[in-house]
Amino acid sequence: WTDITDRKRAEAELQAVNQRLAEQAGQLMRVNADLEQFASVASHDLRQPLRMVASYLGLIRRDIQTQASPELREYLGFALDGAKRMDRLIQDLLDYSRSGRHSDAEAPVDFHQAVQEALQHLQPVIDEQGGEVIVAETLPILSGHRDDVVRLFQNLIGNALKYRTPDRPPRVQVGCQRDGQCWRIWVADNGRGIAEADRERVFKIFQRLVPSSECEGTGIGLAVCKKIVENMGGRIWIDSVPGQGSTFQVSLPVD
Ligand code: ADP
Repeated sequence: WTDITDRKRAEAELQAVNQRLAEQAGQLMRVNADLEQFASVASHDLRQPLRMVASYLGLIRRDIQTQASPELREYLGFALDGAKRMDRLIQDLLDYSRSGRHSDAEAPVDFHQAVQEALQHLQPVIDEQGGEVIVAETLPILSGHRDDVVRLFQNLIGNALKYRTPDRPPRVQVGCQRDGQCWRIWVADNGRGIAEADRERVFKIFQRLVPSSECEGTGIGLAVCKKIVENMGGRIWIDSVPGQGSTFQVSLPVD
C-alpha cells in the first residue's frame, strides 16, 4: 500500500515539476522574443535621432573650425566620438537581434568569397594595424545565409586584429579541414590569447575581458558569431595559449 501511494505521490510531484518547467520555458521564450523585438524596434528608433545629432555636430565642427577655442573643438570631438560609439552599439544590437532570423531560404555559400568580402570591410583596420591576413586557397561551400557568414568572419578576423599584443603586428590565418561529416574552419591569431576560464563566457552577450578605456567594443560580436554558427547546426570554441594567440574554431556539418 505504501509503495503505491509513494509512487503516486512521486508521479504527481514529477508532473507538477514538468508543468512548472514547461511554464518557465514558455515564459523564457516569450521574454526572449520580446527582447529581440525590443532590440530591433529600439535600435531603429534610436538610430535616426542619433544620426541627426552626429551630422549636426559634424556641421557645427566644420563651421566653427576657425573661431572656436581648442577646448570647444575638443568637446565637439568627444561628442562625435560618443555618437559614433553609440551607433556601433546599435548596429551590434541589431545584428544580434537579426542573426538567425531570415525570411529567405538557405543557399550554398562560398566561404572563400565570404572571407574576401569580410576582408574588404576590414581593410582600413588591417592597414592601420600593419596586419597580415593569410587565407587558405580553398574553403568549403556550405548551405547558409551569405550575410551571416560574412558577419561571422568580419567579427572573428576583426577581433583577431583588435586583440593584438603591442609588441608585434597582428598576423591572422584562416584555414579549414574536413573532419568526417563536418568542416572545421578556424581563424587563428598571434594576439594576447584568452585564459581557459574565460573561453566560454566570451560568447555570452556583453562579456568583455578588457575595459573600454583600453580597447573599445560592445561585447556583442562573439554572441552574434555563436548564434550564426548554431543556426547552421554547428558549434564554436576557442583554443588559446595566453600571451601567444587564440584560434577560434568553427565546426559545421556537411550538408
Ligand atoms: P567586443 O570585441 O566588442 O568586446 P566580442 O563579443 O567580439 O566583443 O568579444 C568579447 C571579448 O572577448 C572581447 O572584449 C575580448 O576581451 C575577447 N576576445 C574576443 N576575440 C579575441 C581574440 N581574438 N583574442 C583575445 N581576446 C578576444
